[in-house]
Amino acid sequence: MQKELLPWHYQAWAHLCQFITQNRLPQALLISGSRGLGNHQLAEHFASSLLCDSPQSSHLSCGHCSSCLLLAAETHPDYLIVKPEEPGKTITIGQIRSLITRLTLKPQFEHYRVVIINPAEQMNNAAANAFLKCLEEPTERTLIVLITDKPAQLPATIRSRCQKLVVERPNQELQGKWLRQQNVDDNLELLYNLSQGSPLLAQSYANDKLLMLRKQCFTAWLSVAKKQIHPVMVAEDWHKLTEVPLLFWMTSWVIDLIKCCYQTQALNLFNPDLYEDLKELSQQLELTRLYMLYDLLLLSRQRWETQVNKQSMYEEILIQWFEITRDTRHGRPDNTPTRHIVAFN
Ligand SMILES: [Zn+2]
Repeated sequence: MQKELLPWHYQAWAHLCQFITQNRLPQALLISGSRGLGNHQLAEHFASSLLCDSPQSSHLSCGHCSSCLLLAAETHPDYLIVKPEEPGKTITIGQIRSLITRLTLKPQFEHYRVVIINPAEQMNNAAANAFLKCLEEPTERTLIVLITDKPAQLPATIRSRCQKLVVERPNQELQGKWLRQQNVDDNLELLYNLSQGSPLLAQSYANDKLLMLRKQCFTAWLSVAKKQIHPVMVAEDWHKLTEVPLLFWMTSWVIDLIKCCYQTQALNLFNPDLYEDLKELSQQLELTRLYMLYDLLLLSRQRWETQVNKQSMYEEILIQWFEITRDTRHGRPDNTPTRHIVAFN
């Protein structure tokens, strides 16, 4: 299963290798970085390195010793993964309790034992409290790796007990180079903007026809503003698109509309390919209302992680969007205060 290190992981890998060369492996490691950076792959590389019988000089695992073969077959007894039983669900106290029981036993081989918890912020309160016990009572030769793209959502009591490693995003050039190696050649700049510098996300945009879907959603969104389609109908359709980052898209469209109100050039937009439509629409909108919609989108992004009804959320946003163009004023009020747009991802 020998996989290469992703090129934007080199720095983080060098940091991890120091733990090995200096023989001071932490008890718990918190790897954080945006979604689409391959944080889990980095953790897997580190785990296989620690479990391997004869790692290479780069510290990557050899790929053919008995440990590596067990790992490849997903049957290594000293490699444990704790994740939600279904995507989007929480990691439960039951799962953490059974982990604690497993950890009372010694590792079966002479190397390390590695536990990966991903996504760590999905532990519910009870699970997180129980998990603290793992951190407070160290187990021999065991490394616990927590992976998250939302470190702030982890309890401070957990964060403070972990060594932290942040995976940085590659620059546009490195992302473009890597995507071309994966046979993605078109729309590289747009992909960089849409993925916010997360190459694996950019790759899925290109491969899963997400770009086309985004265009379709944008067309529906425009139709709502033009009163050609009812917002509730669009919300019903969008609710079915479970794996699509619609909130992110809408936020980026609203930010671009605000930028268009300030006469920004196409190049400076998140969605340069939608410039003409956005520019035209921006001339019919009130800046203050756009800011209100932007606030609602930010709030919705916070609520997204909770058990909120997604369809109602889309309805609320789209109805506000539908009403934004109700009493169209030509020309913008020139007393609207300039506001700083917070970076988002
Ligand atoms: Zn090996």
